[in-house]
Amino acid sequence: MTAHPPSSIETLHNEYRAGRCSVREVIEGYFSRMKAKRALGAYISELEQSALSRADQLDSQLLASGLDILLSKQPLWGVPVAIKDNLHIRDELTTCGSKILENYRAPFDATSVSLMRDAGSIFLGKANLDEFAMGGSGENSAFGPTLHPFSEAHIPGGSSSGSACAVAADLALVSLGSDTGGSIRLPASFCGIVGLKPTYGRVSRYGLVAFGSSLDQVGPLARNMNDLITAYEVIHGHDVRDSTSAPTPRTKIHRQSAIQTRRVRIGIPDEFFVEGLDSSVRAALEKTIQALKDRGAETIPISLPHSSSAIPVYYVIAMAEASSNLSRYDGVRFGTRPEEASFANSLEGFYSGARALFGKEVKRRILLGSFVLSAGYHDAYYRKACQVRRLIAQDFQRAFERVDIIVGPVAPGTAFLRGAHSASPLKMYLNDLFTIPANLAGLPALSVPVGLDPQGMPIGIQLIAPAFQEETLLQVGLDVESLS
Ligand code: GLN
Repeated sequence: MTAHPPSSIETLHNEYRAGRCSVREVIEGYFSRMKAKRALGAYISELEQSALSRADQLDSQLLASGLDILLSKQPLWGVPVAIKDNLHIRDELTTCGSKILENYRAPFDATSVSLMRDAGSIFLGKANLDEFAMGGSGENSAFGPTLHPFSEAHIPGGSSSGSACAVAADLALVSLGSDTGGSIRLPASFCGIVGLKPTYGRVSRYGLVAFGSSLDQVGPLARNMNDLITAYEVIHGHDVRDSTSAPTPRTKIHRQSAIQTRRVRIGIPDEFFVEGLDSSVRAALEKTIQALKDRGAETIPISLPHSSSAIPVYYVIAMAEASSNLSRYDGVRFGTRPEEASFANSLEGFYSGARALFGKEVKRRILLGSFVLSAGYHDAYYRKACQVRRLIAQDFQRAFERVDIIVGPVAPGTAFLRGAHSASPLKMYLNDLFTIPANLAGLPALSVPVGLDPQGMPIGIQLIAPAFQEETLLQVGLDVESLS
């Protein structure tokens, strides 16, 4: 067995190719680390039996045909993967980090999940998350918090907390998460790994439990850009089972530097370098931007004037959509049926018994979401938010007439202490300041590590590209990665 967990898909494949380890040995290594590090709370359920029997199948495939033949069709062959627990794996639990779905087994695979499986990957387990993907710290799961992989005192970021923690702590090599307002990029940045939110509609949402349907997007998290690109290539593409899936063809990403192959114009938005930005984050970003410039990129100051309204706009829209999406958990169609005694012949008692299982943050959002959609307030809140959303998208359109990529922070600071924002939902929401504009505008966005703060906590830079320009985005990501 390999003494060290692989640091990339390529090193893992080299081990397989050289016959230094079997797939079973690699997977056993992951499960023994997962057991040793259970206190991190990275997983809600572990899929040891199915992963090991799949490993055995792959080992016999390897005997029958060489690795390179397998890899030509299955780029993730033998790669251990974590799946966020709001994406369905057929016959396994999908809890969404909620008591209300504690015993729910998925009747089908999410499209992104079946694409990952077809590409040869092995599912180690379902990764922890803030309940129904609502949250930014990973503290908000009914099955206990996820801890930061390098410091128990800190949060890992959320809501894809387990997906990020698992990859950073060598409890998976690649993972899938979902990003409605930053939930892939924020934990990726806090845990020092890479995370991609593709263009809205680029990856199928079929089998992703809906939170904010006009914002939700599935994406990968990985230890390096190459692995991230491989996972992205596997999961993107049109899917007839998701009506918002874009009918654009699948593409292969050319893995080359953007700045060495063409002129790259980088937009620096004034609004992303505001006063409240942590000084070590600002310094790391400025250093990165300067280094990109030194290598030939051009930097252009731009303005996204409506981005200051992004937080209120996002929270009105996301809560409205959540209140509608979560109405299906009524104890009849979905959700745990309440105990007979608790509702004693009253229909209202039945429903409130079922919905009592939601956590505090989810209840808050259902209430606020129902309020902004209610008669008399719909125009003042929901409709207004949709109008300002359009202005935010237009700011980006205008900026992208002059630049190829926009850079900024992922978050105002680095991973914070556990409990620091628990008393104030508003403080928690403010963390999403820089991530939600890309969701509101449907744009692809990436988080790449660019250093550490004085406490040793990772800092991420955010790159945003025009819709469907994942190739440029990922190539600039490769450039940023190559600086360190
Ligand atoms: N932190 C944001 C929220 O709580 C984003 C969540 C997400 O992207 N799923 O809504």
